[in-house]
Amino acid sequence: MKLPPGLVAELRSARALTVLTGAGISAESGLSTFRDAKSGLWSRFRPEELATPEAFRRDPALVWRWYSWRRAQVEHALPNAGHVALARMESRFERFALITQNVDGLHSAAGSREVIELHGSLRRFKCFAHGHPAALPADLGDGPPACALCGSLLRPDVVWFGEKLNEDALARAETATRCCDVFLSIGTSAMVHPAARLPVEALAAGAALIEVNRDPTPLTGRAAWSVRGSAGMALEAMLAALDG
Ligand code: NAD
Repeated sequence: MKLPPGLVAELRSARALTVLTGAGISAESGLSTFRDAKSGLWSRFRPEELATPEAFRRDPALVWRWYSWRRAQVEHALPNAGHVALARMESRFERFALITQNVDGLHSAAGSREVIELHGSLRRFKCFAHGHPAALPADLGDGPPACALCGSLLRPDVVWFGEKLNEDALARAETATRCCDVFLSIGTSAMVHPAARLPVEALAAGAALIEVNRDPTPLTGRAAWSVRGSAGMALEAMLAALDG
């Protein structure tokens, strides 16, 4: 992929790069984005109807089955060229921060050392009542198992719609957003808050915004450069430009 020379110059001169990724970067690993998940078993449910505390209270077994299905997909997925390029980019900048809205763990699997997981992880669990961290029992049934400490049901350690983000993760994301020269937003529809406000905060703090997305988003008009296309190809081209 050919990148605009101005974008390459901006990246090369940046001392601090902050990256925000969304479901689009994992699409090339075979994981559906929420917007694209229109087919299959779960197409009759909207994520907003399953990924909430109310849904879990109403029908914990249904929500648990949906997450078991998503977890099974993630367990078979491999990091793609985009994840790998970002892991390599880490050492090319004086300061580098990787913030993700994804819950699939693929950045860490690609070798990124420090990932700010704003929305938690499908690979961790906690109890619904008190948030006690928990491991999954080996023999899983159809519904959520009980917490060994308090007996309440286990749930995935992800942030559901209507829930607060982990304060420490959000604070680290905001610091990295305020202190970067270039903010790179990749494969996110920039609609889910508070993550969606980070690129806007970076702009307000004087950073140059680069967007990579298959489609236009609310950020496109505000980006100094908007690269339209595959996250994997764009990030490989950026890494090559940094090394070239
Ligand atoms: P989204 O589904 O709202 O948007 C995905 C964006 O990626 C879209 O703008 C789309 O145009 C773009 N895109 C799709 N394929 C692409 C590609 N190959 N290259 C570049 N761009 C591509 O996702 P979001 O903005 O991350 O927000 C929705 C929520 O969905 C988040 O909270 C996230 O936790 C959750 N989610 C996570 C995963 C995951 O962990 N892999 C998967 C689905 C949803």
